[in-house]
Amino acid sequence: MSQPLIELRDIRKVYGGVDSPTVEVLRGISLSIHPGEFVAIVGSSGSGKSTLMNLLGCLDRPTSGTYHFAGKPVAELDVDELAWLRREAFGFVFQGYHLIPSGSAQENVEMPAIYAGIPAEQRHARAASLLQRLGLAERTGNRPHQLSGGQQQRVSIARALMNGGHIILADEPTGALDSHSGAEVMALLDELASQGHVIILITHDREVAARAQRVIEIRDGQIVSDSGAEPPPAASAEHLQANELRQRLDRGATLRGAWKGELLESLRAAWRVMWINRFRTALTLLGIVIGVASVVVMLAVGEGSKRQVMAQMAAFGSNILYLNGKHATLRETAGIVTLDDVEAIGQLPQVQRIMPVIGGELSVRYGNNHQQFYVGGNNTQFAQILNWPVVEGSFFSEADERRGAAVAVIGQKVREKLLAPGSSGIGEYLLIGNVPFQVVGILAGKGASSGDQDSDERIVVPYSAAAIRLFAKHDPEYVIIAAADSSRVAETEAAIDHLMRQRHQGKKDFDLTNDAALIQAEARTQNSLSLMLGAIAAISLLVGGIGVMNIMLMTVRERTREIGIRMATGARQRDILRQFLSEAVMLSMVGGITGIVLALSIGAGLLLVDIAVAFALPAILGAFACAVVTGVVFGFMPARKAARLDPVKALTSE
Ligand code: ADP
Ligand code: MG
Repeated sequence: MSQPLIELRDIRKVYGGVDSPTVEVLRGISLSIHPGEFVAIVGSSGSGKSTLMNLLGCLDRPTSGTYHFAGKPVAELDVDELAWLRREAFGFVFQGYHLIPSGSAQENVEMPAIYAGIPAEQRHARAASLLQRLGLAERTGNRPHQLSGGQQQRVSIARALMNGGHIILADEPTGALDSHSGAEVMALLDELASQGHVIILITHDREVAARAQRVIEIRDGQIVSDSGAEPPPAASAEHLQANELRQRLDRGATLRGAWKGELLESLRAAWRVMWINRFRTALTLLGIVIGVASVVVMLAVGEGSKRQVMAQMAAFGSNILYLNGKHATLRETAGIVTLDDVEAIGQLPQVQRIMPVIGGELSVRYGNNHQQFYVGGNNTQFAQILNWPVVEGSFFSEADERRGAAVAVIGQKVREKLLAPGSSGIGEYLLIGNVPFQVVGILAGKGASSGDQDSDERIVVPYSAAAIRLFAKHDPEYVIIAAADSSRVAETEAAIDHLMRQRHQGKKDFDLTNDAALIQAEARTQNSLSLMLGAIAAISLLVGGIGVMNIMLMTVRERTREIGIRMATGARQRDILRQFLSEAVMLSMVGGITGIVLALSIGAGLLLVDIAVAFALPAILGAFACAVVTGVVFGFMPARKAARLDPVKALTSE
């Protein structure tokens, strides 16, 4: 005699307790089922048939009594081993079909094989052949709502057979079907029984039950009759022996599935669910999209303006220093930088060029026209030190400078405003503060203005001429110095400082500044601004994360039954965890990618309106990684909640 596959001894199941009255639904069930049997359990509604089936299928645990599967006490199995039994030993067929609504027929049938780690090709082929065998070859791509009840039930039978289905547990499989479809399903079960599957059929219909070899009647949670209490003749060779199943359980439950296939499958399922709920998903993802986009754009704008400042520094000549005497205060007299100081600083090896400046607004007349212009006394270093060449005529010479010659170089706007249109102006005489100066050259147009002063409204004359003839003042207002090496501006500054203190009896009665310092200070304020904007972006990422958590909690609630179905077909807790975590990560990845695309298009828009942006790959990758981490962190709680659901409660939830 073969060992029983299933052996129940005095099984009891009590519902209720804490806050509801206790109901004993199963009251001492004892029965054994052997390989090769076709058993019908019949009883009226509410007699405890489904409760019994959930216990048999290891979806639920009894309150008391023992259940041995192939001689092994089920109470001692852990959650993974129970999942193995559901996956490899049992195949469930439910009254309500219990297909996953978002998957096609083919995908529903394949599901148990995914959890068993069967390679994709083998899986596809087997599912297709099962569906064909059940007459559904044309319907493999249809989703459950596109199938009739009979077709859905056949899909669920194919699913039960996917991993072998040694023991088919069918709970009212024909309950929701018309008589024709019901007859088809029954014929199918007959056929499976004849092929050696153990069939446990649950029904309230005696006529249906009569098709089985053995009929067990149950009433109010107790067995009242059993047509085949004595074991059938020794099981034939084609019947899977109980101890073989048991050996496979001992080996198989600890076997890891093919994680790659499972991961791919959970990502695909995640994508499917997201696509089905795309509008809701899109709204919820706005937080992440905005967060990622703003982080990327902020950083790009910050980087862009920094680079622009650097470029400006290079164009301006970041080697330029300014020296001027301190203004008088109540305690001290004004510091004066003299031409002798200029002479001495010019001798320093670190100094390439030096130019004293004296100047002011003066009335300038040509013929009947007269107007105020800035007139500056400079030396011949002007063009090089300010990077400002003459485009017509020539600059005044060293000789002009020594003689104090009354010659002038004028800006573009001066020529426009004062001289006759079309005249070059070279050789003409201007009356500057009543002193006639001859125009010798025209400056290139700068086209830029600082404050209210247009830099092209400017006249340059020799320093000596300006000092003597125009301003009656010997000492320069300030001095412009070009350091020989732009990478050693600080060193140059120190050398000038040292020399000036020596010459001024150790007093620091002068100021020494440079453009680079000013520009860098400006860059620093911009940096702190983008840091602040970055913080705002981080907050929107947080809001996005909460959005992901919210949508995941909603998903878990809506799909509780799906989770139950997955568990009934053999998903382990970690499979469910992976499934929902993949969905959260997929969600936030899609949000992250959308955010990056949005950021790039905003960047392109900004470039069109001439705002400097510079996208840095590390910033983009960083923002994307933040989005993914957000998904993992905020998706974990809902995913764990899903994984810890009780299979029966999940299955019977609405
Ligand atoms: P059947 O499938 O034979 O119609 P069930 O096994 O579904 O019967 O239910 C048997 C009895 O157990 C019913 O009276 C039902 O109300 C009760 N029952 C089933 N599930 C629960 C539960 N989770 N909590 C409390 N009572 C339950
Ligand atoms: Mg029932």
